[in-house]
Amino acid sequence: MPEDLTPTAQHDPDATDLVRRLEAVHERVRQAAEHAGRPAEDVRLMLATKTQPVQTVRAAVQAGVRLLGENKVQELVAKGPGLADLSPTVHLIGHLQSNKVNAALRWAACVQSVDSLELAERLSRRCEAVDRDLEVMVQVNVSGEESKYGVAPAQATALAAAVAVLPRLRLTGLMTIGANSDEDAVVRAGFAGLARLRDEVLASGLPGTGAAHELSMGMSGDLELAIAEGATMVRVGSAVFGQRSVAG
Ligand SMILES: *Cc1c(COP(=O)(O)O)cnc(C)c1O
Repeated sequence: MPEDLTPTAQHDPDATDLVRRLEAVHERVRQAAEHAGRPAEDVRLMLATKTQPVQTVRAAVQAGVRLLGENKVQELVAKGPGLADLSPTVHLIGHLQSNKVNAALRWAACVQSVDSLELAERLSRRCEAVDRDLEVMVQVNVSGEESKYGVAPAQATALAAAVAVLPRLRLTGLMTIGANSDEDAVVRAGFAGLARLRDEVLASGLPGTGAAHELSMGMSGDLELAIAEGATMVRVGSAVFGQRSVAG
């Protein structure tokens, strides 16, 4: 095969586009951090890989992304084996049904979508059974939109405190999906609310809450607002992979 037809990352136009878009997102993160007076290293980029085929995800990992977020256990399980040799860190960022806990635990290093004590207890029991630890975040519905999962803000600190003491779970912070609004002030207020809740959890001094510093918030459309309000992890999909053709 002639050299220039070899399907490597260098010659594959899709992979070249992906690397270019990835660099553009890194630049947005850097600028937003600078604007907020924060070190760029304080904001980690997670790629949200829902609906992306494993080849595309591999290209992103090979371009340097270490942190992936998957929405569905089905996709975690389907892509896990094809990514294993690259050993990315994969978090579950979508709703977890209790009957899928075992499958999720095979591939996820962290479950960001814990929104009930029942789910957390189930995760904890399963971790005890298979003798492993698990990072978890509590998902908070800061906008109150009915279409969104997550515990209500008024219940968030109590849930975080209850989760934090469960065996084998390590509470690392809080996660949210920003309000679906064109008004920056509305979106930003939600992110600020999550930051306040995280501060309350840390300040509580309750057992197991000392490591809960993460604020997983901000996506392709609102990562600047999230970083301005203290995001430590932004979850980006379409800005890197392009618009999804089907709802994910
Ligand atoms: C899809 C998704 C993202 C990324 O959204 P984009 O708008 O594609 O950047 C982030 N977090 C969650 C929970 C998602 O489902």
